Amino acid sequence: MNSLLVHYQEIALKGRNRPWFVARLVRNLREATSDLGVRDVRVLMGRIELVLGPEAPWERVRDRVARVFGVGNFARAGRTPLDVDAIAAEILRDLEGRETSSFRVSAKRADKRFPLTSPQIEREVGGRIKDARGWRVDLDHPELTIHVEALTTEAFYSFGKERGAGGLPVGSGGRVACLLSGGIDSPVAAWRMMRRGCRVLLVHFHSYPILSRASQEKTRELARLLTQYQFRSRLFLVPFGDIQQRIVLAVAPPLRVVIYRRFMMRIAERIARQQHARALVTGEVVGQVASQTIENLSAIDEVASMPVLRPLIGMDKEEITAQAERLGTYPISIIPDQDCCTLFTPKHPATKARRADVEAAERELPIDDIVRDAVAAASVERFRFPVVESRAAEHGDVRS
Ligand code: ATP
Ligand code: MG
Repeated sequence: MNSLLVHYQEIALKGRNRPWFVARLVRNLREATSDLGVRDVRVLMGRIELVLGPEAPWERVRDRVARVFGVGNFARAGRTPLDVDAIAAEILRDLEGRETSSFRVSAKRADKRFPLTSPQIEREVGGRIKDARGWRVDLDHPELTIHVEALTTEAFYSFGKERGAGGLPVGSGGRVACLLSGGIDSPVAAWRMMRRGCRVLLVHFHSYPILSRASQEKTRELARLLTQYQFRSRLFLVPFGDIQQRIVLAVAPPLRVVIYRRFMMRIAERIARQQHARALVTGEVVGQVASQTIENLSAIDEVASMPVLRPLIGMDKEEITAQAERLGTYPISIIPDQDCCTLFTPKHPATKARRADVEAAERELPIDDIVRDAVAAASVERFRFPVVESRAAEHGDVRS
């Protein structure tokens, strides 16, 4: 079986824009498997075929495809001429040595010009398999389901489907900038936006050299992991320690957290604009911590002149943690570090920052200068996936 057949779900609903989404998905499938001996990626009547070379390592191809957004489900498949004898013969060859207590053939005819209907294909192919192997046919609860898809000049068969990552292909949904801390929530927020087709720039605020480099190391690890879903990432590392010290000197403790966040927003927005991103993303959740009340979130939003997206806004910590575990970000996120906010976090932050108070406090600070200097001091690191040996050698590292 030298093919991998991809089916999409949500893209199928896209009407006239569908070819554009499909083309994006094809590009991403190519990119995701670029180092694995995939010979071709072909668009075929509502599905996509990856033509695997003889050396393509199936397990690795499967893991890569399972992460590509826009894939509804996929299966390892065999391609045959469009002829029931040929289809049955190929299936029987691939099932040699395999036993099952019951089976059924489930057929789909993509091209209605083929003279046999789907039930006829099922009967014809199923009958041949039954004659050859003596297996019992069970239409309702078969142990083995053999899928046959008849296209215009060829057919595919497969044994069972795997669930894809869902969502929409990365690159179909515009560019956004995610404020990525080393915590549990923000990597999940970034991933959720990628899943909706966005390309996500990552922006991290650190307090080095006042604090250790640990938070930067963690965000690099997170960026590396998240890049598996979008293939190319940029991580902006913004020094924030001096800014926090200035805020501590000028602002009473209860308002500090909201004011840190307002500065993060302003700086991230400036970087986002330079990078042609159109929205900001955070991992905030209503009520999760004192700084995340509706009042405080709206005080934070006021400084942004682009949409602030909060994909986790209504989720429980438990749900976010479960997602982080599935994603693999959780073990990285829980590595202890001094988050830039912990050192400077007051014991009793205001839960309802009043606009007038916040603005009065900020009047003590040269906002524009602070933002401009922070953007100028930011450094950027680039990540790629897959990491191709020759490319890694060229750049010395994944980062460049
Ligand atoms: P997380 O797990 O994402 O850190 P959290 O529950 O710890 O979330 P906060 O620390 O209050 O929440 O941060 C709220 C949001 O602000 C984060 O989800 C993130 O988007 C942003 N943020 C906080 N600290 C940083 C930072 N140092 N760098 C970049 N973004 C940050
Ligand atoms: Mg945090």
